[in-house]
Amino acid sequence: MTAHDPNLARSSAGILGWLGFGSRQAEDGETALSTPPRAEQRGPLQLRQMEELGHFLSLHKLEVSAKSLTAAWSYLTGSDNRIVRAIDRQLQSRQPITAEWLDEVLGGDSKGEDVALLTQLMERLEGSIDEFGKTSREAHSATSEYHSALEGHVNELEQVTKAGEVISELATIAKVMLRRTRDIEKQMLKSEAKTRALRRRLDEAKRSASEDHLTGLPNRRSFETTFDEEYRTARAASEVLCVAFCDIDHFKVINDTHGHEAGDRVLKLVAESLARISNDHCHVARHGGEEFVLLFRGDRLEDAETKLNSLRENLAERRLVNRANDQPFGQVTFSAGLADVFACGDPRTALRAADAALYRAKQDGRNRVEIAVEDDCKPPQVGLAA
Ligand code: GH3
Ligand code: MG
Ligand code: MG
Repeated sequence: MTAHDPNLARSSAGILGWLGFGSRQAEDGETALSTPPRAEQRGPLQLRQMEELGHFLSLHKLEVSAKSLTAAWSYLTGSDNRIVRAIDRQLQSRQPITAEWLDEVLGGDSKGEDVALLTQLMERLEGSIDEFGKTSREAHSATSEYHSALEGHVNELEQVTKAGEVISELATIAKVMLRRTRDIEKQMLKSEAKTRALRRRLDEAKRSASEDHLTGLPNRRSFETTFDEEYRTARAASEVLCVAFCDIDHFKVINDTHGHEAGDRVLKLVAESLARISNDHCHVARHGGEEFVLLFRGDRLEDAETKLNSLRENLAERRLVNRANDQPFGQVTFSAGLADVFACGDPRTALRAADAALYRAKQDGRNRVEIAVEDDCKPPQVGLAA
């Protein structure tokens, strides 16, 4: 990418302005970059990155959006292997980088935001329901006590033989109050039943928000929460923690040959076979598309590798048939990248390292498990090609 195309420079300046770097109109009518203090503070490298970012968007005629910026930034800095690979593939096959295509590639991320918001709302609702349930139960028990006490008083009043006018009036009022407390109690019971039903519905909604609808496995967001929890648990107990990315090999061919619905069934079968090893310290989730993530707490790299290889061999040995037309799917395999989380430092780095190892497994011929090496855990190079 060069900065010599005036159209690119113009658009780039616009993006820089949008990002807070400012621009001014040069006297010859071409947009030129100004050098406001913020840009100087950020230094020439960052300024160049911003220019490259602008060029990328302009070159692919992409609107400025969270998604296009994320994609451009990830690609130019190499900070997300998945995005780099996807864009490289697209460019190599001379396919355009469009907003729709980015939606497909980054789809999981924006859904993640929606789900995050939904989860937040549900947590608040959950809090309110629990609070209401508690208040309602307390009110119910207070009303019951009051009711019993009142009933006692009414009985006492009725015992008074020398019932004067005042006493009989009091008795009448007390009876009315008694009826009212009975009504309130009934209402309370109803509202408690409604609270319980609401609670059940909320639990169902929560489950469905953390579940992948096609495979029934936990989804990416839920996995991220589990990963954080397991990371804390493993660290506290000085246990090993390994993470793996598994990606079905040549899955596109299955879709292209047998259709998307058959592809969905294969995805379900693979999910089922991976899920067999899940338990309270081994978690299997769908990360998105035909990619799965596995978390092994308490398993050393060699043990996790053995388990992954056994899953891989079991799947490769199966002869899956498209039940719609009895056509064989052919051998279905996956490749995997495996990383030791604590050797990498933290969950994010470990996921990136596992992804880099997966990339190697694909390059080395697929249907294999690769272990992340030290280099895979290093932060990505931020410098950009001139
Ligand atoms: P590789 O071995 O390099 O991983 O090749 P691949 O064909 O598996 O990878 P590629 O990324 O080229 O294609 C993945 C395909 O998976 C493309 C996409 O349409 C398909 N896919 C993603 N999610 C689903 C889904 O939920 N159902 C179906 N049927 N297909 C899906
Ligand atoms: Mg993939
Ligand atoms: Mg694949």
